[in-house]
Amino acid sequence: MPAGSRPSAAPGTSPDFLRAALDSLTSEIVILDESGAIVSFNATRERFVRDNPQAGSLLPGVNYLEGCESAQGECVADVRGVARGIRAVIAGELPEFHHEYRRDTASGRRWFIMHVTVFTHDGKRLISLAQVDITARKRVEAQLRLTDRAIKAVSQGVLIAGPDQRILTANQAFSIITGYSEEEIVGRTCRFLQGPLTDPKTVEAIARAQVNREDFSGEILNYRKDGAVFWNDLTISPVCDEEGAVTHFIGVTRDITARKQAETEFENLNRRIVEVSRQAGMAEVATSVLHNVGNVLNSVNVATTLLGDRVRTSKAGNLAKVAALLRDHATDLPGFFTRDERARHLPGFLEKLAEHLVAEQRAMAGEIDTLRKNVDHIKDIVAMQQSYAKVSGVTEFVSPADLVKDAISMNAGSFDRHSVEVTTDIADAPSVEVDKHKVLQILINFLRNAKRACDDSGRADKHITIRVRQAGEKVVFAVSDNGVGIAPENLKCIFSHGFTTKKDGHGFGLHSGANAAKEMGGTVCVHSEGPGLGATFSLELPLRSGAHGPADHKGLSQIAA
Ligand code: ADP
Repeated sequence: MPAGSRPSAAPGTSPDFLRAALDSLTSEIVILDESGAIVSFNATRERFVRDNPQAGSLLPGVNYLEGCESAQGECVADVRGVARGIRAVIAGELPEFHHEYRRDTASGRRWFIMHVTVFTHDGKRLISLAQVDITARKRVEAQLRLTDRAIKAVSQGVLIAGPDQRILTANQAFSIITGYSEEEIVGRTCRFLQGPLTDPKTVEAIARAQVNREDFSGEILNYRKDGAVFWNDLTISPVCDEEGAVTHFIGVTRDITARKQAETEFENLNRRIVEVSRQAGMAEVATSVLHNVGNVLNSVNVATTLLGDRVRTSKAGNLAKVAALLRDHATDLPGFFTRDERARHLPGFLEKLAEHLVAEQRAMAGEIDTLRKNVDHIKDIVAMQQSYAKVSGVTEFVSPADLVKDAISMNAGSFDRHSVEVTTDIADAPSVEVDKHKVLQILINFLRNAKRACDDSGRADKHITIRVRQAGEKVVFAVSDNGVGIAPENLKCIFSHGFTTKKDGHGFGLHSGANAAKEMGGTVCVHSEGPGLGATFSLELPLRSGAHGPADHKGLSQIAA
């Protein structure tokens, strides 16, 4: 077949076929003559004009260019730009013309691209206009621009790398965080985000996540460009295509150096606070031990003074006198016993002396017993301090009456000397399972404070009453006095560390007592009607150690009343 000729029967060249093909295009096709008059158009253009009458008429002889030039509306500048381009092509100033422009259509404002070319038919120059709706592409482009701008604007560093992990782009925040400009990092692999400071486990985790096409998130220590160390919170996410192949990696990083520094400072501060509180706690324990030992030492002192007095004034010396008398008459004892008046009184004297010495011995044994108990108590207070770290000490079953008796006997001397009358009212309570020395520590302090309150009141009749009651699964000890009483505002802080109204006070006794009670699962409580009206301090303890329920203040108020 000769070149250039076409088989006239070929279906692809028949006018009908070409017409149908033209109509099937989604582009609008319009053919103009050199004056701008519409010569022909396809079905897409026809549909468009039907739906958008403002786009002009398609009637024979209608001038397309004049229509464009007289267009109204907001997009007029764009439409006139199209007319100018077409005229330039008609005038031969441009071989062809491509122009993106906006038009208002029935479905809103849309973007088009117009391709203008010239062709000759039957010796006439004709202009072909092909318009394609590119609104969808424009929208995607706008979206991309927005995303790009957003990426640039966010304070997190963002970088995008290809599947080979080579960096394609990074935002400004990334440059600010790392100190590298975009140009300096584009083309480098993401691995430069990990430095010699990065924990090897993290490096491994990143590699594993990339192989498995999973997200990685972690905190990474690295160097900035200027050598400064910084912490960054990094997330790397793979982006995959429909077949699951990685097309990109997106890295997002945040500089968390300030937070990390604050955390370290906070940890140091916390460690320091713990240390200081431990020291303060130790100081408090030491002071409380001294206070409690001091209380018991007072009683030791009284007992020793009494013992000393008794030894000094002992009638035992009289025995020596008897012995001397007998020795003087050793050569004639029968004569002495028959003739000497003194010998006749000797048996009665010896009998009385013996009685006296027995009483004296009993009293001294009593004092020695008190002394021994006091020394034991001191020993236990010290032991308690040494085992301070342990939550509870050794517990034993003790009768509440014995506890009260011991507490009184350890203060007995001072009650006598200050003429304080002590009465007890002990109900039939079962034995309690307690750390005996903790309970004694609390009761002794209650008693000493009560005695002091009575003394300070200046009254002649000084009374202290100790009551013991069982209240359900608890036992309550209450020490009441008719001393100076307590002002309402002091009631609130009376158990606080360091609270004291005494010139020589420390304010540790009640505080350490409250702590000791708490350790035993109990509570301490105070009641006073006000200054001058006495006070009652109560200790409530569970009958069984380990069976600590919440404190029941009913018992306390019953007994305090
Ligand atoms: P200190 O005896 O060293 O002051 P405490 O903790 O034993 O420490 O007592 C704290 C304060 O509680 C006392 O200074 C006193 O004001 C008050 N207080 C304690 N017991 C009584 C009481 N029975 N009557 C009045 N006030 C009391």
